[in-house]
Amino acid sequence: MTAQRLDGKATAQAIRAELREEVERLTAAGARPGLGVIVAGEDPASVVYVRNKTGACEELGMHHETRGLAATVTTEDVLAAVVDFNGRRDIHGILVQLPLPSQVDATRVLDAVDPAKDVDGFHPENVGRLVQKRPRFVPCTPAGIMELLARHEIGVAGKRAVVIGRSDTVGKPMALLLMHGNATVTVCHSKTANLAAVAREADLLVAAIGRAGFVRADFVKPGAVVVDVGMNTVEDPAEARDLLDPSRLPGFEKRGRALVGDVHAPSVARVAGALTPVPGGVGPLTVALLIKNTVRAAAATVA
Ligand code: NAP
Repeated sequence: MTAQRLDGKATAQAIRAELREEVERLTAAGARPGLGVIVAGEDPASVVYVRNKTGACEELGMHHETRGLAATVTTEDVLAAVVDFNGRRDIHGILVQLPLPSQVDATRVLDAVDPAKDVDGFHPENVGRLVQKRPRFVPCTPAGIMELLARHEIGVAGKRAVVIGRSDTVGKPMALLLMHGNATVTVCHSKTANLAAVAREADLLVAAIGRAGFVRADFVKPGAVVVDVGMNTVEDPAEARDLLDPSRLPGFEKRGRALVGDVHAPSVARVAGALTPVPGGVGPLTVALLIKNTVRAAAATVA
């Protein structure tokens, strides 16, 4: 079997195209959607993520503003940036790019974001609302995955779903969304016994681990839908040869690195029924859902 490729890039483009009209309507109504980004330090991955997110705002004619803070920033400095964005009428959504430098108390920072502008859905009020199945803002990565599945007509009701990873940003909200969609959900983590056997029970397997190529063919039930959330960089040529489709090797040789997921795509694609690629799978959806949440936040101010 060769798995169907679940094209996140095309799905994200479709979502952004749908949002364009709403951005124009809101702008005409005096509420041009605005995203405020807070980023601290020079983490290269964060720089790329922020560029992708502000680029998407740009494309849709939204307002965006990035507060770039030094790597040596204090918690109080980051809090001051949050308080400023909280009070601004032209900023409807606030994104605090993680990770923050280790000396910054990230929990205090995220708790300080106005829940009505918390477009990442990380504030405890929004987490609580999601748990109670009355969501306001849902974390963008799992929300994007649900959109991807829905737009490919992959139903989750009645399915056995296994989520590997239990982070607050991906694994936990993913499990909640799947449970609310009437899947029967198992959440796995680093202490799960017989992980491959548990994963193999899944009709829908979500890998959000942060380990390149961790999910191999023996984790996957034939025909299962596999969603690869992982974003890992490989630099070792032997590892690259193992993890990458041969068509990507020239690019790896040129740049000396490549982006790979948590799923060993070459082997899993032969067993799964459908698979998200990396890159071009979950990543673009995360950006699209951030934009969607920001547009919704702006719409709420003119309702
Ligand atoms: P995280 O906070 O580090 O959480 C990783 C989870 O994986 C933890 O629950 C951990 O278990 C589990 N885990 C680690 N090693 C394991 C093992 N050997 N067996 C089973 N479980 C294991 O990471 P995250 O923020 O959720 O991100 C996960 C991946 O998704 C990363 O590659 C990240 O870059 C990527 N990501 C991508 C997007 C996107 O837009 N595509 C967005 C966010 C994140 P414990 O809880 O027991 O430690």
